[in-house]
Amino acid sequence: MTAQLIDGNALSRTLRADVAARAAALKALGVTPGLAVVLVGENPASQVYVRNKVKACEDNGLHSVLEKYPADLSEAELLARVDALNNDPAIHGILVQLPLPAHIDAQKVIEAISPEKDVDGFHVASAGALMTGAPGFWPCTPYGCMKMLESIGYDLRGKHAVVIGRSNIVGKPMALMLLAKNATVTICHSATADLGAMTRQADVVVAAVGKRNVLTADMVKPGAVVIDVGMNRNDAGKLCGDVDFDGVREVAGWITPVPGGVGPMTITMLLVNTLEAAERTAH
Ligand code: NAP
Repeated sequence: MTAQLIDGNALSRTLRADVAARAAALKALGVTPGLAVVLVGENPASQVYVRNKVKACEDNGLHSVLEKYPADLSEAELLARVDALNNDPAIHGILVQLPLPAHIDAQKVIEAISPEKDVDGFHVASAGALMTGAPGFWPCTPYGCMKMLESIGYDLRGKHAVVIGRSNIVGKPMALMLLAKNATVTICHSATADLGAMTRQADVVVAAVGKRNVLTADMVKPGAVVIDVGMNRNDAGKLCGDVDFDGVREVAGWITPVPGGVGPMTITMLLVNTLEAAERTAH
């Protein structure tokens, strides 16, 4: 059996076209959705990420502002910038690129973002909204994974979903989103005694670890849906996920590739969240 691919690039194109159409409709009402991206320091990976986010905004009719600051920007100065953006009516979404330099308390900065503009979904108010089922912004990466499941018409009710990883930005919100769709959810982490015993029971596996080959073919139930969030480099320096793609695709029913899977979906959901933030101010 060879798994069917869930193509994050193709799905992103469809969803981004919808974003662009809705952004144009809002513009006609006099509101241009605006995203502020704040980058502190020179982290090369972060520079690539923010560039991609800004470009995705431009390509889809959203206004974006990239604010770049040197690594020695003080926490107080950054908090003042966030405050100014909170009060800027042209900005509907604020994203502070992580990681921040060590002298800045990242959680304090995130909590300073107005929850109405928290398009990354990292504020405790957003986390609380997700946990209680209240309206709020969902973190983009797990939200993108949910859209991928939706795109194949997958009904999670009664299915067993295993999430590998329990970070606040991927694993935990992923588990809550799956739970909200009536899956039975198991969360695994570095202290899980027998990961394979868990994943072999899973109808859906989401791997969000950051280590190559965390999930191999012998750990997957035939026909399962496998979503690979990981971003790693193989020995040749090429981007790869957490899943042994070549092996697992022979067992799984559906699989997301890396690259071209969850990665583009994350940016797409950032656009969706920013658009929705703007729509909420307009209605
Ligand atoms: P993280 O904060 O480092 O969390 C990793 C999680 O994996 C932790 O919960 C850790 O457990 C668990 N873990 C580590 N080793 C394990 C093992 N051997 N077995 C089972 N669980 C293990 O990472 P993250 O921010 O969630 O990101 C995870 C991966 O997704 C990274 O590769 C990251 O680059 C990628 N990512 C991709 C996107 C995208 O857009 N494609 C977005 C975000 C993240 P403990 O909690 O016990 O330490």
